[in-house]
Order: sequence, then structure tokens, then C-alpha cells
Amino acid sequence: MKPAFLILAVLCGISSGAGLSAQSLEERKAAVQELLLKDYDPTSIFRISRTEVPRAKFPVIDMHSHDYAADSAEIAAWVRTLDSCNIRYSSVMHCEWIGAPFEEFVCKYRPYGDRFLFWCCFDYTGFGESGWAEHAVRELERCHALGARGVGEMVDKGLGDTYARPVPGSGIHLDDPRLRPLIERCGDLDMPISIHIAEPIWMYEPMDRHNDGLMNGANWAVDTSIEGCRDYEELMAAFERALEAYPGTTFIACHYLNMNQDLERLGRLLDGHPNLYVDIAGRIGESAVIPRATRRFLIKYADRVLFGTDNGMAPDMYRMVFRILETDDEHIYNPDYGYHWSYAGFHLPDDVLRKIYHDNAARLFHLD
Ligand SMILES: [Zn+2]
Repeated sequence: MKPAFLILAVLCGISSGAGLSAQSLEERKAAVQELLLKDYDPTSIFRISRTEVPRAKFPVIDMHSHDYAADSAEIAAWVRTLDSCNIRYSSVMHCEWIGAPFEEFVCKYRPYGDRFLFWCCFDYTGFGESGWAEHAVRELERCHALGARGVGEMVDKGLGDTYARPVPGSGIHLDDPRLRPLIERCGDLDMPISIHIAEPIWMYEPMDRHNDGLMNGANWAVDTSIEGCRDYEELMAAFERALEAYPGTTFIACHYLNMNQDLERLGRLLDGHPNLYVDIAGRIGESAVIPRATRRFLIKYADRVLFGTDNGMAPDMYRMVFRILETDDEHIYNPDYGYHWSYAGFHLPDDVLRKIYHDNAARLFHLD
């Protein structure tokens, strides 16, 4: 943030609202000098529309959520929230255990089995040893028979450090040829692979005063100094190789493929790879800051975008996402997203909302 803007913002903030401040001009200027960027927490001065969106306008399938509920009481409360928000199904991505505990996970949600979509992960036990692929494919087939509809969330932020448990993948990138039997089997079984590639691009750039995401850097960062860590471009190149190598397998790139900074490039990838979808989970902070460019992208690629949240079970969390997608509200501050910028809604047309909220996911999973 430019110092001049900070001074302006602080002065405006003080002089609006409760009337004139007792601070002298010198005190105000001194306050600006002492304020740390991380403490900046502005309140909007604008008297403009603030739309409440308690329920999504159309039924929703959340394609990116996790096993957040600790017990049956929390699952029951979550289902009440889903009902009140007009969410028909929520995914539960479960990468914590494979083998017998996958059955426990499914059992936990079974009383509400028609509201949750189960995801499993690959079993990396003995990865690289002979017989591993056969074992892992059998494990995948077993989870599929138990109700797993997809594989994910896989992840590669640079180190090939997937989220799987109890044996986490490490140094395993999607273009590793040893994964071929599993990725091809996903295609045979009609199981999409949800994968989180890289992170927002500012996390791979120097953390200095020019870094656009710096304000979020205390909470989110990639340790690019670790030996063997792939950089942003290497990760994207490897992902594109996988899209080409497995045309029969559907990939869902989480979080707009972490490519919010260049939506035309993301569009070219979608144009070139019919097996690619993207979800919008967890990236309101990176998309609603460029609402017009994002709106154009979402309209153009409405058939390839999936709704997702990835952010807990709270009703207000869902409602914030609905507000961004449905309304034309602007200058929305949300400190939860961590950045220094404000957001605006996309005001998407109904036909686009229906596809992103529901129809694309229903088609992938043969629902309703
Ligand atoms: Zn996630």
C-alpha cells in the first residue's frame, strides 16, 4: 500500500462517522507513521447497497469442502445450515486415512448420506516399491465401491506434498509416471481428480514492498527455498503435461487453478483441455477484487466452473460467497480473506448461476 493512500484513508476514516476528531493534525500524521500494515482494518465510508443473501438463488452442490464435522451433532447442525442456505449436497474430501478408516468416515456421515459426496485419496503406502500400484488401485476400487465419487483433494504447491494420510505422498508430482495406473483407473471409474496446484502467484515472488499479496504473507506462504521445490511455472507445466497425458480422466483444478491473476491464460487451458474443470473454492479474496474480469471469465466458461467453498461450515461463510456471485454490491471489506483490498460482486446471470451452482457438478456426478 502506498503511504499516501494510507494517510488519505486514515484521515477520511477519522473525519467521517462520529464527527470531527479531537486529534490534532500532527497527531493524525504521527498515527499514520506508527500504524503497521498488518493492523490496517478500514471501515467502508460508502453508503451503498449491502445485500443480504441468506439462501442461494438456486440449489447448490458444493464441490469443495472437507470432513469438518467432529461428530453426529455437528453433522446434524451442518445439514440444517445446508438446508437454510439452499445447498443440496456438500462434498466431504477426506484425505486423512485410507483402508479401514475410510469406512468409518463413510459411516459417520451415513445418516445424512444423501447430502454428502465422499472423496478419497490415493494410498501411498509403499510408494515406489514393486506391487505398489496394484495395491493402490485395489484400494481405490474399494473406496469407490464404498461410495467415493472422486479423488481429492490432491495437492502440489511445489514439493509434491499431497495431503494423503496415514502415509503422505512426498515428492510426488502429477506427472510422475508411477501414478499412471491410478490416474487412468480414475478415468475408468468416472472419478474426477480434484487437485490443488500451486498457490496464488504472489507467494512465489519476493516478499518485499512490491508484493501485491504481502498483507496475507504472514499467514500464507510457500517455502520456495527448500531444495527441489518447483516454482509456479514448473507446477503449471507439469499440470498441463498431466492434462495431455490423461485425456480420459477429468481433473478439477481447485481455486481457479490459482491463476486468478491471468484469467485469459486459464481460459486458454480450458479451451485446450476438455478434461479440465475449475472450482472457485477459497478464492473470493483473489477473484472479487477484479469483479469485471472474473465475471467475463465465469460467463464465458460457465460450463466448466464448479461451486466450492473450502472454508468451514458457518452460514455466514456460505452467504458471503452467494453475495459475491449474485449481487452487484461493491467495496466490500472482509478481513477474513487477509488482503488489503476490497471486493465487489459479480452479479452473474441466472443461467450462469444455475450451471456453476449445480448443473455442472450434477452432470459430472450423474446427480438428480
Ligand atoms: Zn480444500
